[in-house]
Amino acid sequence: MEFIDRILTCADCGGEFIFTAGEQLFFFDKQFKNDPKRCKPCKSKRSGAALKTGTGLAAAGLSRTETRTECSACGIETTVPFKPTQGRPVLCRQCFQSKRAPTSGALVTAAATADMVAGAGPEHAAVSAELLTAAHATQA
Ligand SMILES: [Zn+2]
Ligand SMILES: [Zn+2]
Repeated sequence: MEFIDRILTCADCGGEFIFTAGEQLFFFDKQFKNDPKRCKPCKSKRSGAALKTGTGLAAAGLSRTETRTECSACGIETTVPFKPTQGRPVLCRQCFQSKRAPTSGALVTAAATADMVAGAGPEHAAVSAELLTAAHATQA
């Protein structure tokens, strides 16, 4: 059985691609009945998209700690990356940053704290709420 390269049309992008003799031999060997439907870039794009979907789900799972609450300073509805403790003040991102804004060093600290809180459990959240309260008190 002899094979020659054939030009096929991709079902996804409509572009032409070569179904090589070697690939045809492979298909024949595997007893695949159908010609390949997609060019290589589209094929890898599809498997890449499938991978991305999995990653997206994982990312969505990570954001499950976001809690809806009201900012103690301006009253706006906001989400925090931790479970706020009852009765403790919570600041929205804007208020949190404006309290810490005066020096760039403080901003870095604020960002670092936010990161720390994002990765921390509820017990750490209570500590961070206290930090926020302390920031409130010193600035007011
Ligand atoms: Zn294609
Ligand atoms: Zn606020």
